[in-house]
Amino acid sequence: EAPTAGAGSWRRFSPEMDLRWQESRALEAALRIAVAEEQFELHYQPQVALPGRHLTGFEALIRWRHPERGLLTPACFLPMAERLGLMQRIGAWVLREACRTAAAWPRPLRVAVNISPAQFEDESLPAAVEAALADSGLAPDRLELEVTETVLLATGDAALAQLLTLRARGVGIAMDDFGTGHSSLTQLRAFPFDRLKIDRSFVKDLPAGGDALAIVRAVTGLGRSLGIAVTAEGVETQAQLQDLLREGCDAAQGFLFGRPVPGSDVPAVIGALAAA
Ligand code: C2E
Ligand code: MG
Ligand code: MG
Ligand code: MG
Repeated sequence: EAPTAGAGSWRRFSPEMDLRWQESRALEAALRIAVAEEQFELHYQPQVALPGRHLTGFEALIRWRHPERGLLTPACFLPMAERLGLMQRIGAWVLREACRTAAAWPRPLRVAVNISPAQFEDESLPAAVEAALADSGLAPDRLELEVTETVLLATGDAALAQLLTLRARGVGIAMDDFGTGHSSLTQLRAFPFDRLKIDRSFVKDLPAGGDALAIVRAVTGLGRSLGIAVTAEGVETQAQLQDLLREGCDAAQGFLFGRPVPGSDVPAVIGALAAA
């Protein structure tokens, strides 16, 4: 029957909807506690230079150690953190933790840190980075920040100015998920990126040829012409790697070289990749 306005309209909410609403409110409350108690950890995924597969550093990827639900991936909680305005605090923690961990790695291994658009609010990113570098003693050229083009779209000139400040400090700036946005090429003209990361969705469809290969070829060519390093994300197979090598891709990251591991396992990964 058609719901009527007023007293009867609560009938439109099914018990399942009510349960889901309660669950997401509970998760929100738990996330606020997680931020206060720093229930997060960073996992680190190797990044290698091509063609030699020489280890150059690791990307830091956040996980939430939820007291009951175990380890949660970013997709489960970062969108909620953004909505609740918690990203600046989480992002500052990530920067401090990543720099502190990387400072103990052998030089010149680098750490790449993902930065969310919210971290550009109040022009606070350069100060947060400066604090993380000062606390850890990590050299600025061993830190790379990964931003998606939504950063420049959403925050415009303010983000641009902060990225330029950071780059002048010697921090590397990479464009993440390259090719998935609406204006990737426009963004390349707006800011002098040090690196482009070809999105996993393109790499996934190698080596079938066709569109994916054409796009990888175009992006590596663009990188060469503009003097910007190109990293392929999500490399899982030898066949994908062969295509990337043939196209002259500069660097790669993916399960083929290593999955993200806790910080305590990084020395073992360094040893294994050095021996390979
Ligand atoms: P991203 O920066 O593009 O990171 C790469 C994602 O691909 C990671 O997922 C990684 O585990 C996954 N991946 C790497 N190699 C492979 C592969 O060979 N195959 C497959 N299927 N997947 C692979 P993860 O850790 O779930 O992170 C997802 C996204 O969450 C990241 O995408 C990044 O946008 C965001 N993120 C992660 N950590 C942080 C953080 O500390 N701060 C912010 N702002 N965002 C973060
Ligand atoms: Mg990334
Ligand atoms: Mg990416
Ligand atoms: Mg991605």
